[in-house]
Amino acid sequence: MKTKHNKINRKQFLKNSILASAGILASSCSRDKQHNAPAIITKKRVRWRMVTTWPANFPVLGEGCNKLAEWVEEMSDGNFTIKVYGSGELAPPLETFDAVSDGSVEMGNGAAYYWGGKMPAAPIFCSIPFGMNAQQMNAWIYGGDGYQLWKDLYAPFDVIPFAGGNTGPQMGGWFNKKMNTVDDFKGLKMRMPGLGGKVIEKLGAAAVVSPGSEIYTNLERGVIDATEWVGPYHDYLMGFYKIAKYYYTPGWHEPGPVLENIINREAWENLPKTYQSILKAASARQNIWSLSVFEAKNNEYLNKIKNSPNVEILRFSQDILDALQKASNEVMEELCAQDTTTKKIYENYLDFKKRITQWNSYAI
Ligand code: CA
Repeated sequence: MKTKHNKINRKQFLKNSILASAGILASSCSRDKQHNAPAIITKKRVRWRMVTTWPANFPVLGEGCNKLAEWVEEMSDGNFTIKVYGSGELAPPLETFDAVSDGSVEMGNGAAYYWGGKMPAAPIFCSIPFGMNAQQMNAWIYGGDGYQLWKDLYAPFDVIPFAGGNTGPQMGGWFNKKMNTVDDFKGLKMRMPGLGGKVIEKLGAAAVVSPGSEIYTNLERGVIDATEWVGPYHDYLMGFYKIAKYYYTPGWHEPGPVLENIINREAWENLPKTYQSILKAASARQNIWSLSVFEAKNNEYLNKIKNSPNVEILRFSQDILDALQKASNEVMEELCAQDTTTKKIYENYLDFKKRITQWNSYAI
């Protein structure tokens, strides 16, 4: 229906479009002028160190950090270099944030939900159970209020975040017994970090946090009955299909975890503007690169897992998913009741999620 309001908006839109075109012309003129000006090249040599929560050269996650360093070096003609250290080489994996915050190193790469003990709201910037997927998280961060809220949360620690990767939707995990009913969570020992761990504890499970390097042995020896990890590509490389019988979907606990580059504020402020732009561009490239690699490889590796003789791929029942959803809501409500910053961020997140989900329901 054409209303007066729509007509005005349409007129305004056309006017803006014309102005925008004029802007393009004006900026191309000024670019021509710049071509005649003497080139100003930033040649300052900068050497940075980056600590990560991943083992050195870890598929996709560590590789993404190596690529970031390569791209930064390439774009700065070799003048800005970043040496990447695997977890434990300079700092223990879970001390990545502290090492960046206190300026021991200039930057780090990890995931915000590792810092949940320091800032209860941090997991919201990585992934929360039944939360937004990768595309929606990128929309919140790059197109909504997400980035400003994230920056504000880290600011008291002198840390500046940038989105630096995403695993895409994860799988529900590997189990050594069938999960037929909600009661099957009672007494289950499952490696499940973060908020997902709090959720399964509400159903009577014991959530175990163990670093990636210990999961395989713990599962093999029965120290744990189940584990979540990432998705088919990474899980296959971890070899879980050799020791666990049931691979469950969906990854309700991590629908699209954002990985992050975190930078020490003083180091950032001392960077020439050109290098700041280079680092931002490389981080955005790393963000899309890692998501694309996971998404491109997952089906190939899902088929390898399907073809391994001892594994059955199953879907959690609706009853189980409903119980997990209910427990997730309780976990988030408890978190918000304890901390006003978390409440403010979560309300913004939920509002954005509601709106983008509505749009997605029309568009997909
Ligand atoms: Ca995971």
